[in-house]
Amino acid sequence: MEFSVSRRIRIVPINAIPADFLSRLALCLEERFLYTIDVARALVVPQSSVNSARKQMFVSTLTSKVARAHPDEEGLILAITDFDLYKTSHRFLFGDADEQQRLAVVSLHRLRCEFYGEDVDPNVVFQRALKESVHELGHALGLKHCYNARCAMHYSNSVFETDNKMSHFCDACDKRSRARNA
Ligand SMILES: [Zn+2]
Ligand SMILES: [Zn+2]
Repeated sequence: MEFSVSRRIRIVPINAIPADFLSRLALCLEERFLYTIDVARALVVPQSSVNSARKQMFVSTLTSKVARAHPDEEGLILAITDFDLYKTSHRFLFGDADEQQRLAVVSLHRLRCEFYGEDVDPNVVFQRALKESVHELGHALGLKHCYNARCAMHYSNSVFETDNKMSHFCDACDKRSRARNA
């Protein structure tokens, strides 16, 4: 079987995400995936796209806007948003991914310390965002959830599980990702 995978990840910030956060994320993802990373211009998504009853955004509403804004992207896309996300089967999401579209999305909303009534700590939020970004990009590359609680592909029900896992794949997931994307 032949794979013609473009080894590139484009980070698409949704509305205002700090530039230093994005460049640090790009650097860390480059180290882990050995892909070329670029940060696209922010995609403006209005507050009116939020489901007003839930005060959350339906994840497909967001991902279809991202896909429409980057129709010719041949690599992976990683959207980063502050919007709180949900889908039909999930009350909330830290992130989501679509292997066919090669598109991943991570929400910072429930990764923030403030959300849990804790003191603001940008470093904690960054590490969580990095782990969930690696997780969703793993799905976009075709990886499934991993039983190893330390692996980035372990499913996080809560932010505690995110804190407990590593920001990279376990050996088994690493092998799988390289076999699929050789
Ligand atoms: Zn997952
Ligand atoms: Zn694993």
